[in-house]
Amino acid sequence: MLTTRRQALKTLTAAAFASTAFGRFHVLAETPAAAAAAAPAPTGPFKLPPLPYAYDALEPDIDAETMHLHHDKHHAAYVAKLNEALAKEPTFTPPAYVDDLIKNLAAVPDSIRTVVRNQGGGHANHSLFWQTLRAKPTSAPPVFQSPIPLDSAFSKAIKDDVGGLDKLKTEMAEQGGKLFGSGWVWLVLDGGKKLTILTLPNQDSPLSEGHYPLFGIDVWEHAYYLKYHNVRADYIKAIWNVVNWDFISDRYAAAMKA
Ligand code: MN
Repeated sequence: MLTTRRQALKTLTAAAFASTAFGRFHVLAETPAAAAAAAPAPTGPFKLPPLPYAYDALEPDIDAETMHLHHDKHHAAYVAKLNEALAKEPTFTPPAYVDDLIKNLAAVPDSIRTVVRNQGGGHANHSLFWQTLRAKPTSAPPVFQSPIPLDSAFSKAIKDDVGGLDKLKTEMAEQGGKLFGSGWVWLVLDGGKKLTILTLPNQDSPLSEGHYPLFGIDVWEHAYYLKYHNVRADYIKAIWNVVNWDFISDRYAAAMKA
C-alpha cells in the first residue's frame, strides 16, 4: 500500500503521542514507594565547600585523619542537618549565603530556629575555619619577622585593640582553654569595629551576636582529640603554625571598608 507523506507524518505523530501517553501512564502507575527508593538523597540549598588544601597540608600540627573526620563527617553533617531542617519549612526561603541566614535568626521560623542556629552555625563557622588555616610555609621566616606585615592596618589594630600579636595568642589560648564544654574562641570585629576576643558555646556564630568573625579556633574535642587527646592547650599552641594571616588580614581590611 502506497502511503503519502502526509499519512506517514500522521502515523508518526500518533505513535509519538501514544508513546508519550504510555510514558505518562507508566510514571503515574509507579508505586510511591518505588519512586521514593529511586529518588536521590535530599539535598538542600547549602553545600559542603571543599577543603581549600589537601587533608595532610596542615601536618603535623593538625593531622590528616582529624581533617578527614572534621571536614567530611562533622562539617558535612552540619550542612545535611541544616538542609533537612529547612526542608521542613518550604515556605521559608533562606538567603543564598549561610552567613546571612545566621546573622538574622529572628527571620527563621520558630519551629526550626534552634536547629538552624546550631547546624547553620556549624556550617558557617567551619566554612570560615578552613579558609583561615594553611600549610606551614616551607621556608620558615626569621623568628623576628611578624607573620603579619607590621605596617598594615590589621597589625596596627592588633597592637591598639588587643595589645599585640603575642597578647592576642595568649588571650585566645587562655579563653579557649577555659571554655567549658564545646565551643569556639573568636577574634572578631565588634559593632564598633574594634578587635575583640571572646568565646561562644556550641556552634553559636559571632554573626548572630552582631560581631564579625575574623578567626575562630574550634575547641570542640572533635577538632583535636585524635592527636592531642585531652590536652587542648597543646592543640591551641600548635594551631598558630598553620594560621593563614594573609587571609585574616584581607578579611579585616574588607570588613573595615564595608
Ligand atoms: Mn568542628
